[in-house]
Amino acid sequence: MARSGTAVGKEALAYCTSCKMDLNHVIVAMKGDLIARVQCRTCKKDHAYKAPKGVSEPTEKPEKKAKAAKKAAEAEIDHSIQAEWQKLMVAHKNAPLKPYGAKSHFVLGDKINHPTFGHGIVNRLIYPNKIEIIFEHDMKVLIHAGSAQV
Ligand SMILES: [Zn+2]
Repeated sequence: MARSGTAVGKEALAYCTSCKMDLNHVIVAMKGDLIARVQCRTCKKDHAYKAPKGVSEPTEKPEKKAKAAKKAAEAEIDHSIQAEWQKLMVAHKNAPLKPYGAKSHFVLGDKINHPTFGHGIVNRLIYPNKIEIIFEHDMKVLIHAGSAQV
C-alpha cells in the first residue's frame, strides 16, 4: 500500500544528482509503490529518484541567523557611537576635562571624565537636570545639577 503523500505531483525529499544534495522534488512518475522519477524544485531537472542521503542542506537555523543579525546590528551601533565619539573628541580637543558629578553643572560640548565610562562629551541637554553624554562605547543619560534657570 502506498504511503499517503507519495503520488505523482506530490513533493518528496530526494537526492538531486545535479544539485548534489537532498532537496524537495516533485514526483513525476511512480513505479508501483515506489517513486521512479522526480523533478528537482531547485534546478528543475528531471532525474531518476534517488533516496535522500540524509545530509541536510547547509542552511543555518533561522534563530541562529536572527542572532547573527542582531549581533551585527549591535556592532553597527557600537561602531557609529565610537565614530561619533571620536569626531566629538576631536572637535572639543581643547575643552577642559571636567570630572563627572551629579552636583556639577554641565553645558553642551563639555568634556567629561567619568570614573566608569571614561571620557565623554555632552551631546544633549535634557531639561531640567539630565545630560546625554557620548562615551567611547556607549551613550548615557546622566543627572547633573541642572540648567540655569532663565
Ligand atoms: Zn537539483
